[in-house]
Amino acid sequence: ASRQSGLPATAIKIAPGITVGSGLTFVAGPCSVESREHIVHTARLVKAGGASMLRAGAFKPRTSPYQFRGLGEAGLDYLAEAGAAAGLPVVTEVMTPALVEKVAARADVLQIGTRNMQNYDLLLAVGRTDKPVLLKRGMSATLTEFLLAAEYILSAGNPNVILCERGIRTFETHTRNTLDLSAVPALKTLTHLPVVVDPSHGTGRRELVLPMARAAVACGADGLLVEVHPDPDRSISDAQQAISPEMFAQLVRDCQAIFAAL
Ligand code: PEP
Ligand code: MN
Repeated sequence: ASRQSGLPATAIKIAPGITVGSGLTFVAGPCSVESREHIVHTARLVKAGGASMLRAGAFKPRTSPYQFRGLGEAGLDYLAEAGAAAGLPVVTEVMTPALVEKVAARADVLQIGTRNMQNYDLLLAVGRTDKPVLLKRGMSATLTEFLLAAEYILSAGNPNVILCERGIRTFETHTRNTLDLSAVPALKTLTHLPVVVDPSHGTGRRELVLPMARAAVACGADGLLVEVHPDPDRSISDAQQAISPEMFAQLVRDCQAIFAAL
């Protein structure tokens, strides 16, 4: 993963016209796949707003076992169907090595969540697939630990890793996490891998998503991962941080303008 490898900046081709690490990539969608109709509808809305990829969880890592934990395999099918209908590649989380093959058969990009950043068997399992991996920073991981987690995937033979800053644990409780934007330019000096930012989980607050998305682009992010819901307050999971499709369209416009001015 190191710049010292001499490798050029990694650009990851996901689909025709969609390359992470070249221009800005917008990964958008609801926290969870809520139903077939819901994800098909949301996919169309985020596509219209400028999304490059659709994201939603079918297998959800929830803090409490009594919260909604996703639709599982049915959710994967609905997500793939929604992506195909809207013309968007899909990103979804895989939580266990046993499910990697199943998820890889339906998704274009495999997401590793913050809680699994140091699940080494899982990192090796996704490293053995031919699907790009979106690796989220562990909520208490240093940048060195983050890059070494990426190294597990690379060392298993998969060169296509997208790093995602999604906020870290600090003493602050106003925000859900503290979005560490300094990680973006810092990672850019350390690694050739693309870096995207998730201001949704990074702040946990709807009103902070747009300003932090703008700041992420200003400091060099290759893209954004954002939770968008047609009726944000009614999101089954992570309602407080979900933004509307209108706000998402604004975010895309603002970020593109900032990117063009860099
Ligand atoms: C997510 O992106 O759906 C998610 C669960 O995020 P994180 O792993 O960053 O908490
Ligand atoms: Mn979420």
